[in-house]
Parts: sequence; structure tokens; C-alpha cells
Amino acid sequence: MEYYSSHISNLIEELGRLPGIGPKTAQRLAFHIVNLPKEQVGTLADTIRDARENIRYCKVCGTLTDAETCPICADPARDHRQIMVVENSRDLAAYEKTQKYEGVYHVLQGAISPMLGIGPDDIRLKELMQRLQGDVDEVIIATNSSLEGETTAMYISRLIKPTGIRVTRIASGVPVGGDLEYIDEVTLLRALEGRTEL
Ligand code: ZN
Repeated sequence: MEYYSSHISNLIEELGRLPGIGPKTAQRLAFHIVNLPKEQVGTLADTIRDARENIRYCKVCGTLTDAETCPICADPARDHRQIMVVENSRDLAAYEKTQKYEGVYHVLQGAISPMLGIGPDDIRLKELMQRLQGDVDEVIIATNSSLEGETTAMYISRLIKPTGIRVTRIASGVPVGGDLEYIDEVTLLRALEGRTEL
């Protein structure tokens, strides 16, 4: 038996596919949406479509951006000889919020996970190695402290070591398995300042 209109059921199902949205939240959001003024729902739908259609990846660092080169990579005031390697754009945003990091980034768009079948070729490592052909003093590995993040960090450090470029890892003041984006700025800064040579 269908408790709601099939339109609402479909909406609940779609919303329930989003990360972090359980069945109850999906239901609450769906009822909230159908009770909104039509124009507001239109704006929401348009904004989602617009974001999806116009987003692109920076050709240098790989972060999500509006332009061919993101504002960070295009900024001459940043230290382009210091590259922080992060798993995704959310982690980049977390470090940017501290307003203390002056280098640039490299976004891997994932982490190595043998369990999920994600290997070194599935993340942006080749692009990182290409960037290292230029003038680079230090690569700071800021992948998460999860098993995948640590595996990725180890792999990258082994890859870079022969080039003679300094490789560091952010301090593990970051809780194990913790996603960088949920960690407060003070902890992030401490992790950055306490980074160690690999
Ligand atoms: Zn960039």
C-alpha cells in the first residue's frame, strides 16, 4: 500500500540517496519541500542544476572551481613551491578557512583503498608527479588519518622520495578516521605546524 502520493515517495527516495540523509531526514526534507512556495522550489532546483552543470576542475590543482584555473592557483601571492596534498575540495576548504596556509594545493579526488578497489591510478597522482617537475620545495601530505588516508600518504611519500623534494605529513593530532572537514581550525593549524618529515 502506498502511504503517500507517488510524487512524495519518489522525492523521499531521491533525497535518501544523498550522503548523511537517512530515511527519516529524507521524509522530513521531502515534506518540507512540497510545502514551500513553488518559486522557492524552482530556485532550489535551478541552483542544484546550475552548480552541477557549471562546475569544473582546476587544471592545476584539481579542485572544484568556476574557472579554468582556481583563484588559489591563479594567485601570485601564494607560495607555489609548497604543495599541500588533500583528498578532496572539502579538505582544501577546511585549510583555507584557517587563513594561515600560504602555499597551494593538490586535490587527489579520492584516496587509495584496496578494499574499494581504488588504486593509485584512480586518484590524481600522475598529475601530482607532473607538477613536481617544476620548482617545488615541499609536499605536505594532508590526507585523512583513516586507513585509506595513511595508505595514500605512505604511497605518495615513497613516490616522491627519489626526487629529493622534501615530503612532510601533517601531525596526527587529527583524530583517527576523522574527516579533515569536521576538525576545527585550531586543530588543523596545530597539525600543519607540527608536521613531520617523511
Ligand atoms: Zn587550482
